[in-house]
Amino acid sequence: METWQKQLQTSITSPGTLTRRFGVDPRPLEEVVAKYPMRVPTYYLGLIKEVGDPIWKQAVPDLLEIQDSVCIYDPLEEENQSPVPNLVHRYPDRVLFLISSECAMYCRFCTRKRKVGGENMRITNETISAGIDYISHHPQIRDVIVSGGDPLLLADEKLDSILTRLRAIPHVQIIRIGTRVPVVLPMRITLNLVRMLRKHHPLFINTHFNHPDEITEQSSKACARLADAGIPLGNQTVLMRDINDDPQVMKLLMQKLLAIRVRPYYIYQADLVQGTDHFRTSVEEGLEVIRALRGHTSGMAVPAFVIDAPGGGGKIPLLPEYLQALGSAVILKNYLGETYSYVNAASKVQKEQIRKVANENG
Ligand SMILES: *Cc1c(COP(=O)(O)O)cnc(C)c1O
Ligand code: SF4
Repeated sequence: METWQKQLQTSITSPGTLTRRFGVDPRPLEEVVAKYPMRVPTYYLGLIKEVGDPIWKQAVPDLLEIQDSVCIYDPLEEENQSPVPNLVHRYPDRVLFLISSECAMYCRFCTRKRKVGGENMRITNETISAGIDYISHHPQIRDVIVSGGDPLLLADEKLDSILTRLRAIPHVQIIRIGTRVPVVLPMRITLNLVRMLRKHHPLFINTHFNHPDEITEQSSKACARLADAGIPLGNQTVLMRDINDDPQVMKLLMQKLLAIRVRPYYIYQADLVQGTDHFRTSVEEGLEVIRALRGHTSGMAVPAFVIDAPGGGGKIPLLPEYLQALGSAVILKNYLGETYSYVNAASKVQKEQIRKVANENG
């Protein structure tokens, strides 16, 4: 079988290659690629069934990327919440730690589009050491999310050394890796890699499937290897126009993920990232997806639908209106739209007050 390094070397990095294969005119796309790099592993290119399908849209540059005037450069203000370069400390007890600037594929919708694969993301041994140092000096950090770029593009030895240094910090309870490699470059999940990763438990991996066509024999095998190593697998999906904005497509994706032992974790409303406006759906469409999942299929197949708040506010969950009224009676709507009522109990504070009043009154 072809090695992952070979697969990466032979990946498509210029639109010209598309001409021969798909008969599209590459010239307008050169301008797009000059701004946002292109890289598509031939494995992933092979999943395209026709020009413009959901796989194509995620992988192939589009003129719309450079015609986007709506979206902003760094909507999540990651740069503002970085105490040291490439580390975002937004929440009290966990950090996002970027350790690789490279990805196996440069997804056209990427939230870090401004940085990945380009000059704007400088990750060096020094920034990595500074990040580890920051974590070791902040005992409140019990969860480190290793991301990038894609951490699994690092060589096994390099990743092993970073994970070993993180593991040596007593207050770091869990490590998570965010990676799209199982989806776009599944041959990277080698037995050697898995043997190394399992030394660093408790280790979690969140991957990033967006469409049922991405679940193939190879990506399933990659996930099976990770799961067999005791690594709990989660999935983060971005809701995107003409890719997975159909509730039935999303339901199929969530069900197929469970079948390969990947637990749906988040569905993201698309961020306001420059160059990606054409992927954005309305928020109502996201709520419609959740409505189509909850109750209609396994609860395990229902992730949280979140908006990563512009300005660095963090992830905010959104739910369809199941809760209709909240008082001494709780009025609820179930998944079929039928109304139910639950008799509320007094809170601890209310009970305390009732007892006090009763005592005073003898
Ligand atoms: C998403 C994110 C996290 C992790 O959030 P969870 O809800 O715990 O998965 C942590 N830090 C940053 C900056 C993030 O964007
Ligand atoms: S793999 Fe992730 S970080 Fe890399 S381009 Fe795709 S979405 Fe962005």
